[in-house]
Amino acid sequence: MKIGVLASQGAFAEHIAILHQLKVEALPIRLPRELNGLDGIIIPGGESSSISKLMLDYHLMNEVRNLAEDGLPILGTCAGMVLLASKVSDLDIEPLGAMDITVRRNAFGRQIDSFEAELSMPVLGEKPFPGIFIRAPLIEQANSEVEILARLNGGTAVAARQGKLLASAFHPELTDDLRFHQYFIDIVTGNRKVGLE
Ligand code: GLN
Repeated sequence: MKIGVLASQGAFAEHIAILHQLKVEALPIRLPRELNGLDGIIIPGGESSSISKLMLDYHLMNEVRNLAEDGLPILGTCAGMVLLASKVSDLDIEPLGAMDITVRRNAFGRQIDSFEAELSMPVLGEKPFPGIFIRAPLIEQANSEVEILARLNGGTAVAARQGKLLASAFHPELTDDLRFHQYFIDIVTGNRKVGLE
């Protein structure tokens, strides 16, 4: 199995390190030809406006969009979730439009720019998952094909899945809890079928 981590900008090295811990081959992707032969893609956190611009400049946007349409598994974390969305509050970002979610960027305001929250995420088991939020987006709306996997205490949706697409508002690559990445790898290998969790 080979997973490509979009390395235009942002926290890609941390994702690659986690995949290596899971004994999964992982490589940084900067050019369209590097997308050949991948079993899955991770779009990391960073600045979604920069990532979106660089993806357009390097001709990655349409390629990744087509791969998502063809059913390639994609995980987007934080800015990566913004990129996966079909609608973004911020009009200067062109998202991939792969997931039927509406996302609000920088949704938590200055006071709680960054915070940690123990998230209950039944698909990962009983133990809460350590959610690290850094200038995080939130999921404002999701259509009925989207499964919300985690919410903050107030009910805000912060992780979701739609088929083979997985998104989190937080940074699973900044914890030493490997379960979220393992969940993605299980989607890639077909061990987590839609609707069977
Ligand atoms: N605020 C960033 C954005 O919307 C996301 C932050 C992050 O990825 N940690 O682009």
